[in-house]
Amino acid sequence: MVLPPRLARRLRSARTWIALGVLAPVGMLVVSGLMLLDLRQDAWDKAEQTSKNLLQVIERDIARNVEIIDLSLRAVVDNLRVPGLDALSPEMRQLVLFDRAATARDLGVMLVLDEHGDSVLDAWAVPARRLNNADRDYFRAHKADPNLGLHISKPLFSRLTGSRIVVLSRRIDKPDGSFSGVVLAGLKLDYFSRLFDQIGLGRDGAINLYLRDGTRLMRQPYEEADIGVNIAGASTFRRFVAERSGSFVGTSVRDGVERHYTFNRVGDLPFVLNVALATRDIEAGWRIKALVIGSVVLVLCGLTVFLSLLYGRDLRRRAVLQAELARLSRTDALTDLPNRRRFDEVSERAWKRAWHKGKPLSLLIVDADHFKRYNDRYGHAIGDEVLKALARCLSASVNRPDDLVARVGGEEFVLLLPDTDEEGASRIAGKVHEAVAALTLPSAGIGAGAVTVSIGLATGSGSPGEPAEALYRAADTALYEAKAGGRNQTRCASDPTGHPRAYHASFV
Ligand code: GH3
Ligand code: MG
Ligand code: MG
Repeated sequence: MVLPPRLARRLRSARTWIALGVLAPVGMLVVSGLMLLDLRQDAWDKAEQTSKNLLQVIERDIARNVEIIDLSLRAVVDNLRVPGLDALSPEMRQLVLFDRAATARDLGVMLVLDEHGDSVLDAWAVPARRLNNADRDYFRAHKADPNLGLHISKPLFSRLTGSRIVVLSRRIDKPDGSFSGVVLAGLKLDYFSRLFDQIGLGRDGAINLYLRDGTRLMRQPYEEADIGVNIAGASTFRRFVAERSGSFVGTSVRDGVERHYTFNRVGDLPFVLNVALATRDIEAGWRIKALVIGSVVLVLCGLTVFLSLLYGRDLRRRAVLQAELARLSRTDALTDLPNRRRFDEVSERAWKRAWHKGKPLSLLIVDADHFKRYNDRYGHAIGDEVLKALARCLSASVNRPDDLVARVGGEEFVLLLPDTDEEGASRIAGKVHEAVAALTLPSAGIGAGAVTVSIGLATGSGSPGEPAEALYRAADTALYEAKAGGRNQTRCASDPTGHPRAYHASFV
């Protein structure tokens, strides 16, 4: 596939790779962060749904059981009014009054108490087991309030069985409406603990059942000390009562664990039920996922950044190397001056610019006179030293930043002088002659004036149709004339037939 040049250039740029190497990981981090937040939300949604479902199942079970017991209590109240009941034998009376529900395994006791609190009828014994419960709260409450309806007591120990129960009771009225006693059923707390035990809620999860006054009836996991405790003052409980049903995250007054509470009233009963899942448990699975995904993403991001920095550094080094190679390919190794290739490029541009700006462009071709002789006489190495010294002389003769001094052949140099007319260029040529005349190489026994150069000078103003080569040819012709005219002099292309402008004397 062929890439557009602009894109290909961008892809070769170290900066592009470093930017990509930083942006890509940032993108990866943002995407995985959003993903993790989403997963966390999923975990919470799932927890909320699970809690609601559990709440519903438990609530239905409790409501149904209480309803069955209450129906049995109502049946006793109604049947006590059946005429002729007193005439029946105690066994028959028991059969008529207490239906089979009374024998359910979670019912600890079922009794009828008379207005003094004495047991007169017992679902499980004929005659009734003797006891007096006139001191119990429920007895007093029914005695005091004819319209109490179904009353559910705080947890207490049965005087008959010794087991923990809550007492569900209803008032029995005499025909004139006055207090005749109470019918009661003792629901074992085991019923609640068995119901809750079937449910696993994680390490710190809990299910709580309270009376509306804040008394705890049951808690799962079960601990004896929790039963009967009143938490009416706790902020969590105040919310249970105020909002009827809902969910929130709060800290338990019991153990200080942060939990997500989902709560509801159980039908119209004075029960408040809640399912509490520990925040830690809800997020446990998510935390592991977050840790694994987070670590993998971080490692990948780190690797990406590292590799792109490495690649960027490599590209930068390569660019520096290429620039150096490009510089070397345009530099003369002996004198360190720009070489012919560089001169060709620059002169072509300068030529066009001269045309556009309408300014003159001058070119000096400087050729060492009889240079072959130096080589022959002093050897090639000294010849090289002379060439280097010549290069220094030429460089010292110009000072504008746009001036170009180049070595274009063996002992042939050029000075390209933009914005310079012939007169200015002649002055430079004079400076060159002067500098060369002063050139010495004491180690080789070359003294001042021993080295001379001939210069061909041409000035033009550029031309769009003509290459810069034209200026070079003109200067070369002038150089030929300078040589022919006796060397150590400058000839101008504009004055090909004129008198040789001998030596620098004419310019100083
Ligand atoms: P003229 O005055 O006519 O220019 O005579 P010349 O001897 O300078 O000219 P010619 O073109 O006949 O010879 C140029 C000599 O320059 C040939 C070679 O020995 C010498 N030369 C060219 N390049 C180098 C170089 O890189 N190092 C050295 N030491 N000598 C070089
Ligand atoms: Mg020469
Ligand atoms: Mg030559």
